[in-house]
Amino acid sequence: MISEPRLRTLLAQASKTAENGKLAAALTLYQQIVEEAPNEVEGWLGVAQLNPDPRKREEAYERVLALEPENPLALVGLATLRGEPVSEEVRLAAAALVTPVKAEESPTKEQEAEELVAETAVDLPFPPVDPRHDHVELTCYRHPSRKTGLRCYTCDKPICTQCAKKTPVGYRCPECIREAEDAFFNATPLDYVVALLVSLPLSLLVGFLLSLIGGGFFFILLIFFIGGAVGSLIGRLTKQAVGRRRGRYLPHLVAASVVIGGLFAAAPALIGLLFGSLGSLFGLIVPGIYTFIASSAAFYQMK
Ligand SMILES: [Zn+2]
Ligand SMILES: [Zn+2]
Repeated sequence: MISEPRLRTLLAQASKTAENGKLAAALTLYQQIVEEAPNEVEGWLGVAQLNPDPRKREEAYERVLALEPENPLALVGLATLRGEPVSEEVRLAAAALVTPVKAEESPTKEQEAEELVAETAVDLPFPPVDPRHDHVELTCYRHPSRKTGLRCYTCDKPICTQCAKKTPVGYRCPECIREAEDAFFNATPLDYVVALLVSLPLSLLVGFLLSLIGGGFFFILLIFFIGGAVGSLIGRLTKQAVGRRRGRYLPHLVAASVVIGGLFAAAPALIGLLFGSLGSLFGLIVPGIYTFIASSAAFYQMK
C-alpha cells in the first residue's frame, strides 16, 4: 500500500508535469497513482482529464463518483461526455471550484508541490511516455493548428496548453473561466446606473468644495489623507447603494466619477494655464494629488 507522503508527492509531480505540458507523462503518473491508491479521487480526476480515450475517461469519472457520489467535477465531466444535461446547481458547484477567489489561493499549494517535487525528484524516475497516446490527434478548439492532449475540465473541449488555465481543480478553457467569473460578478445593468447616480454627484460636490478651498501649502499635506478618506467614502456609499453586488467594471466606473470630480476642482487652474498663466501650475497640485489618491481608494473599495 502506498504511503500518504509518497502519494502527495506523486500527485504534486503529476500536476506539475501536466502544467509543464508533458501531458502523456502526467497521465502515466496519474495512472500509476490510481493503480497504487485506487481510492484517490484526485488521481482519478487526473486520469479522467488527460486520457484521450473517451471510454477510459468515462470509467475514471465513474470511479470518482463511486468514491464521492456528489463530486460536481465528475458529474459535469460525465454528463458532458455522454451528452446528457447537467442541472444548473451542479454546474454552478463545479464553476464555484474555479472562481477567481479560489484560484488566488493556489500559489501556496503550488509552492508546496514544488518543494515536494524538489525534495524527492532524485528517487522518482520520470515515467516513460506511453506511445499509445501519441496516435490520438486532438487540436485546440481556439487554435486548430495546435495539437493537444488536454481538455477543459468543464466543457470537455480540447485546448492547447497556452489557452488552458490551471485552476486548483483542473484545467479550464477561457470560455469556462469567463463563465465562472460571470457567476462571481453578480451586478445588474441597473447597478451601473445606480453607481453612476451615487458616485458622480458626490464626486462633483467634493470637486466643487476643493475648488473653493484652493491650494495652500498646509493643505497640500492634508490632501493626502483627505483624498484617501473621501475616495473610500464614495466607494463605500456606492457599494452600499448597489446592494454590495460585484461588477466587473463597477470599480472603473466609480473611479472615473472621482476623476471627473477632480477635473472639476482643477478647472480654474486648467483655464488659467490655457491663458498662459504659469502660476496656475501650482493650483493643479491639490486637485492632482486628490484625484490620484481618491480614485485609487474608491476603486479599491468597489472591488
Ligand atoms: Zn471549457
Ligand atoms: Zn489554443
